[in-house]
Amino acid sequence: MNYQNLLQKYQLKATPQRMAIIALMQRAGHISIDELFYLIREIFASISLATLYKNIHTMMEVSLIREVKVPGMKSKYEIEKQPHAHALCKRCGELIDIPFDSIQLLKNTIQESNYIADEVSIVISGICPKCQK
Ligand SMILES: [Zn+2]
Ligand SMILES: [Zn+2]
Repeated sequence: MNYQNLLQKYQLKATPQRMAIIALMQRAGHISIDELFYLIREIFASISLATLYKNIHTMMEVSLIREVKVPGMKSKYEIEKQPHAHALCKRCGELIDIPFDSIQLLKNTIQESNYIADEVSIVISGICPKCQK
């Protein structure tokens, strides 16, 4: 993925910090602000948490990044992709994507609400296959 093109596609300036945030996010799949802050400090030693938040916020506003709210945990962030649900392991904390278009599936229900839904969030929590062994 070319991060510079990606940022430009969303009308954002491709700053080195934003490109690093996306690269780290892409590598991690889902990442919390704390983890991201720790990793980005290895590249930009003087970046502040406030600056990191500001960049995340800017990229969320244009829907390049999405917040994943995980029950009982700090939010994680991911790069916007195909609609999907999440599965969370209560033992090891692994969070994975499961292909699932919840808006499509819940179309009738959403219609009854008369809302214009832009997001339905589904998190399945349980024990992952590795932890079952
Ligand atoms: Zn697990
Ligand atoms: Zn995800």
